[in-house]
Amino acid sequence: PTGSFTDKATYDWSSEEEEPDGRARPIQVLVVKEDHTFELDEAALSRILLAEEVHNREVVAISVAGAFRKGKSFLMDFMLRYMYSQASEEWLGEAEEPLTGFSWRGGSERETTGIQIWSEVFLVDKPDGRKVAVLLMDTQGTFDSQSTLRDSATVFALSTMISSMQVYNISQNVQEDDLQHLQLFTEYGRLAMEETFLKPFQSMIFLVRDWSFPYEFGYGQEGGMKFLEKRLKISENQHEELQNVRKHIHSCFTNISCFLMPHPGLKVATNPNFDGRLKEIDREFINNLQILVPWLLSPKNLDVKEINGSNITCRGLLEYFKAYIKIYQG
Ligand code: GDP
Ligand code: MG
Repeated sequence: PTGSFTDKATYDWSSEEEEPDGRARPIQVLVVKEDHTFELDEAALSRILLAEEVHNREVVAISVAGAFRKGKSFLMDFMLRYMYSQASEEWLGEAEEPLTGFSWRGGSERETTGIQIWSEVFLVDKPDGRKVAVLLMDTQGTFDSQSTLRDSATVFALSTMISSMQVYNISQNVQEDDLQHLQLFTEYGRLAMEETFLKPFQSMIFLVRDWSFPYEFGYGQEGGMKFLEKRLKISENQHEELQNVRKHIHSCFTNISCFLMPHPGLKVATNPNFDGRLKEIDREFINNLQILVPWLLSPKNLDVKEINGSNITCRGLLEYFKAYIKIYQG
């Protein structure tokens, strides 16, 4: 058996992180303000990471990052379903059940560059017997002007530094500017970290949405890897700049992988009244979701956050978060 999920963390502080009905929700812990300064909600972050049940647990920090309106929240809501259903076979839910979580909730749809964290940290038993704390983060930015690009880069860098797995959510293809952005983000991150011989970051997953060339590279992880290998290949006759981007990306992450997702269908993409029910999502998308989400989140695949080779606890992560933010606040 591959380990099982256990009781979710519950808090005894009657929390501001929960809605009146007691349900968990996304908490904006980092905001980039209009004057391009950063604000960390240290109190909220502390309440989440220092909760009695989790503060001493080793932490698995999973971030999904990328531009707005590219289906991040939609995906994260399914990730939440998986976490809440304790990895059971039936995690996907009922055909007519609306999706809830990061999306379609008052307040969480403001297009704020920053980081949101799910207020509930999940405790999971790994197959090797360790109990780890799993934190889900939504990192969003805009990439449309120089100043917003800089803000986004900083936020992306921060989330890469504090996560054990960064899911880079991109639309349709891996374009040269997606790679350039990634180079910029990780350059920002690396500058802020201590120099070591270890690669500074852990796993990077390119998640390509609306992949429309399955006849060239099939959906899923295998097709994704072949595709990415080709995109990240370094060759002699490439322009030096293209070579450097690729070398840089390879030098930053311990693991790099890719997953090609099909288009979810027109109802998802265009109907303003769509509420996330499975019935209205293309079968092909659902089939791949059923592969993608356990691939990211099944207990055996959860990697604890490491910094300079040591495992980090929730309490440790809070300290790093605060320290890293200081660097960017200058
Ligand atoms: P976010 O801003 O990145 O969090 O994006 P949302 O999850 O809020 O989704 C934005 C819009 O895209 C919504 O109307 C979703 O129904 C739709 N959407 C979700 N997933 C996909 C996808 O894989 N492809 C397309 N084309 N649209 C999607
Ligand atoms: Mg969103």
